[in-house]
Amino acid sequence: MSMLAQPKYPISSHNQVGLRRPFIHRARVSCSATTTKPRSNANAKQVVVEPRLMPPPTVVTTANPNRPIANDPSLQSTWSHRAWVAAGCTTVAIALAESLKGAADLHMWFEPILAGWVGYILADLGSGIYHWGIDNYGDENTPIFGGQIEAFQGHHKWPWTITRRQFANNLHALARAVTFTVLPIDLVCHDPVVQAFVGVCSGCIMFSQQFHAWAHGTKSRLPPLVVALQEARVLVSRSQHAAHHQPPYNNNYCIVSGVWNEFLDNTRVFEVLEMFLYFKLGVRPRSWSEPNSEWTEEIEIPSQITAQ
Ligand SMILES: [Zn+2]
Ligand SMILES: [Zn+2]
Repeated sequence: MSMLAQPKYPISSHNQVGLRRPFIHRARVSCSATTTKPRSNANAKQVVVEPRLMPPPTVVTTANPNRPIANDPSLQSTWSHRAWVAAGCTTVAIALAESLKGAADLHMWFEPILAGWVGYILADLGSGIYHWGIDNYGDENTPIFGGQIEAFQGHHKWPWTITRRQFANNLHALARAVTFTVLPIDLVCHDPVVQAFVGVCSGCIMFSQQFHAWAHGTKSRLPPLVVALQEARVLVSRSQHAAHHQPPYNNNYCIVSGVWNEFLDNTRVFEVLEMFLYFKLGVRPRSWSEPNSEWTEEIEIPSQITAQ
């Protein structure tokens, strides 16, 4: 009788995305227990245990030298990032405070509230147009937008990084744009209706990257209020934004509330714009030739085997 003992190697199918645990090579040891026929000068039953060293299981890892790690310095906030976010929040707060003060002085509430709502709706449209533009055109050398273009290309390849990116690191680029745009308006305009529109619209645009990060979050790890707002479609939902990261990679660009996504995708607005720009300027959008390696999401492959 021959019996081959099966090694116990339950393989953890999912590693926590982004956590870089040390890769542990474990030797697989297989023992075969064999009973032999009794010999004249041997015991009636002899068990021979033959330990054999087997090669470690083959695990394919995504060895990419450019691949960020969970605590990558590029995901950390700097004091410069924090200063720009503070400046952006201040300019938005001034606009909202001016609007509230003007509305209270004039006993006029309907128009500022309506203007704020329009600002919220248009911020979603603006986020979609901007996202479409930097996803499809330019590169890291493009003036002004190069950093954002490079960051979004990296985001398509490693979407999980946005959940590890620190708050100010994620928002500083938009906060800087908001500061330069809204501060002059704060200084020259004191109309509560205009200020309500500007304050809400610019605030939603500045925080769109935070809404985007939450859209990549896990329900169990997000604050319950955020989950409730996502499910009420006040903020872009996780399921809607997930479609942006799946083939054909040319839809669901809006990242504030996502209210414009269905309309823009059904009417193929961006495809028409892409055709227009191609025939006018001869520039092809990235989405026509994707997915390629630049857009294909790298899948985190289990790099740890846990023996039980
Ligand atoms: Zn994108
Ligand atoms: Zn995303």
